[in-house]
Amino acid sequence: MKRQLMNILACPVCKRTPLDLEVFKESDKGIEEGRLTCPQCRREYSISEGIPDMLPSEKK
Ligand SMILES: [Zn+2]
Repeated sequence: MKRQLMNILACPVCKRTPLDLEVFKESDKGIEEGRLTCPQCRREYSISEGIPDMLPSEKK
């Protein structure tokens, strides 16, 4: 995913934006592997193969 996508991604649970971003792997296509964390409800969303998984996960 492109870094610019961060500007429009909101937490699907509480609609918070922006989300915290951790990048594990980045290429010229953008972020390949990483993790988004909602600073409000603390849910985490993984980025895998360039696709952010925005399905709500259970709270830990
Ligand atoms: Zn949230």
